[in-house]
Amino acid sequence: MNCRPISKPESITLQGFKHACHAMLYARSEEKLFRRIPIRYAVLMQMRFDGQLGFPGGFVDLCDHTLEEGLKRELSEELDYTLDFAESDHMYCHIWEEPFHLVTHFYTKRLTLAELRAVEAAAVQGKEFGLETMGLVRVPLFFLHDGKGGLPSFLCNNFIGNARSQLVDALKSLGIVKEEQLKRALKSSSR
Ligand code: AMP
Ligand code: MN
Repeated sequence: MNCRPISKPESITLQGFKHACHAMLYARSEEKLFRRIPIRYAVLMQMRFDGQLGFPGGFVDLCDHTLEEGLKRELSEELDYTLDFAESDHMYCHIWEEPFHLVTHFYTKRLTLAELRAVEAAAVQGKEFGLETMGLVRVPLFFLHDGKGGLPSFLCNNFIGNARSQLVDALKSLGIVKEEQLKRALKSSSR
């Protein structure tokens, strides 16, 4: 199960490939865990029906919609919340040749903390809650004193497709977690 990066324009010209769009929603947060540890950002992933973590989203039919319209529709089905996506929210995409014939598109969108909380509250009302989607989770971005708790432990979970790399790449490129801290988290999660 391997994928490689591809440009968005090239991916759209492919014949016989399905397209899936997923999004990382995030917000700046001043909240502190135990009134001490700044959480800095709230970053959303979700537990899926298959027991793996992934991002909200799903298959988009390019005959009916643009990728961004399709993502909006998938999120409104899964989260019962309407969010618009711009082409500039597209971070990158990957092609999966064998056995899937699939392109996975990854978007990131910054919300206010109030909006993100509204997404969390709406998600439990969504028609797929408890079925396809088993609940949103926030990603702990901090490091506890044992060097394992927080982000390193979170990265030990099982993730669908390339969702784990999508998370790590987005945290890096959006400047949410510093590169050396990400390296530390990846190293300690592989032990
Ligand atoms: P879904 O409808 O959300 O299950 O997504 C459609 C397809 O995309 C499925 O075949 C998944 O295996 C795949 N997929 C789901 N989430 C991700 C992800 N974050 N990264 C890569 N592939 C994914
Ligand atoms: Mn989905």
